[in-house]
Amino acid sequence: MSIPGERMDLEGKQVLVVGLGKSGIAAVRFLLGQGAKVVVSEGGRSLPPASTTLRWLRERGVYCELGGHSSELFAAVDIIILCPGVPLDLPALAAARQAGVAIIGELALAPAYLRTPVIAVTGTNGKSTVTTLIGDILQAGGQKVFVGGNLGTPLCEYLQGPQDADWAVLEVSSFQLDSAGGFRPRIGLLLNISPDHLDRYPDYPAYAAAKWRIFAQQQPNDVAIINRDDPEITRLAAANPVAARVFAFGGTGEAGPVGNEAQPAGPAAASRTDSLLRIRLGKDFEAVEKYELAGTELAAEPNRQNALAAVLAARLAGCPPEAVSRGLESFRPLPHRLALVAEVDGVRFYDDSKATNIGAVISALQGLRGPVVLIAGGLDKGGDYRLLLPVLREKVKAMVLIGSARAKMAAALVEAVPATSAGDLAEAVRQAYRLAQPGEAVLLSPACASFDMFSGYAQRGEVFRRAVRELARERSGGRGGGEAGSSPGRAAVVA
Ligand code: ADP
Repeated sequence: MSIPGERMDLEGKQVLVVGLGKSGIAAVRFLLGQGAKVVVSEGGRSLPPASTTLRWLRERGVYCELGGHSSELFAAVDIIILCPGVPLDLPALAAARQAGVAIIGELALAPAYLRTPVIAVTGTNGKSTVTTLIGDILQAGGQKVFVGGNLGTPLCEYLQGPQDADWAVLEVSSFQLDSAGGFRPRIGLLLNISPDHLDRYPDYPAYAAAKWRIFAQQQPNDVAIINRDDPEITRLAAANPVAARVFAFGGTGEAGPVGNEAQPAGPAAASRTDSLLRIRLGKDFEAVEKYELAGTELAAEPNRQNALAAVLAARLAGCPPEAVSRGLESFRPLPHRLALVAEVDGVRFYDDSKATNIGAVISALQGLRGPVVLIAGGLDKGGDYRLLLPVLREKVKAMVLIGSARAKMAAALVEAVPATSAGDLAEAVRQAYRLAQPGEAVLLSPACASFDMFSGYAQRGEVFRRAVRELARERSGGRGGGEAGSSPGRAAVVA
């Protein structure tokens, strides 16, 4: 069976949903609503037989295969819908491919079922921030917006409702783009590419190619927004011209459209100088709109870049400039992204638990005043930690390493910075506090996934914040206990 396109009739079809996470369950609901015969396969964890999810599924006649994936089941259905985390090299999927079963992700349902134009955001880092910011800006302009996808509400949940938004702003991951079929965003953004998920892709070029797929189905009247300062993106742009009109944003000097053979110089460019964003739109290249970020939560890197990309997208979506300014002013950063937690005896503690790859750590360190004590580590994702060496040498005085990746990280990094190791995050906070002097910073920016010690980045961030608050309470109570580099007293909890 070929990949379903704009005409897809699910009624009476046997559809297998692989993965029972939030998006899998939303997909099941949607498919049942379309009259499909739904079965489910969940390999990673076996839900307890009494779980409400299982009960709900069984009440609707949904057969559930738990704790494994059988080739027989996969090869016997008409369509397979994959949840984002499911590896594409499952043996059962090979059997399905051989049997001619269509294997898609939820984004591939969009051409047939989504009636709302899409702004889609991808990149290694900054997706959630930019997706949320575009949603905020469009709302400030009076537009009705659905914000979701890989962030918050799955697309399938929106598909089941009245679909009454003016725009669907979707965060899309590389995993989702791997199985996106005919997904065609009206406006697509590719923010940056740096090594990530190398535990899942055969190599870095394969991961980068997955990101470029965001533009694969676009037509000449669609818009592709790319980061002109990102070498991987400019390489891809040169090698794989896209059909859409290309707009570029960048961090240095004068900016302009990236060359695109199919569609040369588009009518827009955007650039940034300090806290001022400058956007050029329309036929007239001289007409420059200016947006001031000073006084907003977006004034520091990497959020200046994120703001630039989001403003360009919102303006191209027809949002008026005054609404853009209001949206920028009202934006509040998402938790666990370079958030100041507290200042304890002059040491600033930052929670950047969402930094699950090396590129995010580099950008966090570049944006912070040094010297920094870095808390890093967790579950390794196959990246090359040596990419951190230049910024470690420049900004970091010591590292405290946690989690299963700590030996690999120490081996790669100790030539630049001394490292100690901690059994848990609370202990790491105390070690880092002892290593830092007043005026310096402690940064949790792990460069790793969290699943070896936590349920996710959010829990890791919460544990960090609790440990910092606990330390702040002790210090403000004057219990110095002889710890180095501090006098008892000043501890301000910021968030
Ligand atoms: P994503 O959804 O892509 O993971 P987030 O907005 O949640 O992106 O941010 C994830 C991490 O990446 C955070 O640690 C944040 O500080 C960092 N980050 C955000 N924007 C950028 C960017 N443009 N470049 C590099 N790192 C970024």
